[in-house]
Amino acid sequence: MSEQNDKKVLFTLDDEFTFSCDRTLPCFNTCCRDINIFLTPYDVLRMRRSLWIPSDEFLKAYTVALMGDDGIPFVVLKMKEDRDKTCPFVGAEGCAIYQDRPWSCRMFPVFPVSAEEEEFLIEEKLSCHGFRVNKTSTVRQWKKDQDISKYDLMNEAYKKITLHDYFLKGNKLDPGKSKLVYSSCYDLDAFKRFLFGTRFFDIYDVDEQTIEAIRKDEEELLNFAYGWVQFNLFTEGNLRLKDKEMDKLLQARSGVSS
Ligand code: SF4
Ligand code: SF4
Repeated sequence: MSEQNDKKVLFTLDDEFTFSCDRTLPCFNTCCRDINIFLTPYDVLRMRRSLWIPSDEFLKAYTVALMGDDGIPFVVLKMKEDRDKTCPFVGAEGCAIYQDRPWSCRMFPVFPVSAEEEEFLIEEKLSCHGFRVNKTSTVRQWKKDQDISKYDLMNEAYKKITLHDYFLKGNKLDPGKSKLVYSSCYDLDAFKRFLFGTRFFDIYDVDEQTIEAIRKDEEELLNFAYGWVQFNLFTEGNLRLKDKEMDKLLQARSGVSS
């Protein structure tokens, strides 16, 4: 079908748009193919938990890791190598990981224009019958219906790293730091092994309650990973060395170098 008349429109959070998607539409499942889906660390956490597989296995089987100009790693969902480049999770019944589908699949067809999420772009594709269903929502309501708040919360925390001033000033991560971001935030099982399989908690001052929380709760673990990355990249955050003298030196050094 010709896409010549596809329409892109800007909306604010409280503007209404007309759209609905369900399995009765003739286009059902046809859009889950040949698309670039960027996965945040929280997307990866949810998807691999849905599949009950370790993070390294998930990353190897289902993603491609790339690198931004600033050295920040990013991860894209790997489409199948069939003729249509279909998503590995789409089946006759729809998305096999629907409850844990990534942020951008939830948001579709609404996409924020900027990180501040004040304006949103909606691309009305002619091939998408959802725009012909007479159901209206505001962007705010759409986000609520898609149960996106937990994703937003976790992604906001990650944006404190990726949108940090450090990068706006033109700095780049060296390969070691890029690897640290990737293995801490995306390969969460490896990060957990690093925390609990080394003397980490002998060196860093982390209270027992936090240690227990990150042992049991993957969202807490990911938040701790973000803190670890901020500490390493920008010497920021709440993480402190147990050695108070060393900690003071480190904090003083970060004050000078920032
Ligand atoms: S993850 Fe699910 S919703 Fe997203 S493209 Fe794949 S099948 Fe479609
Ligand atoms: S309505 Fe749009 S989003 Fe839903 S299945 Fe059809 S093409 Fe995909």
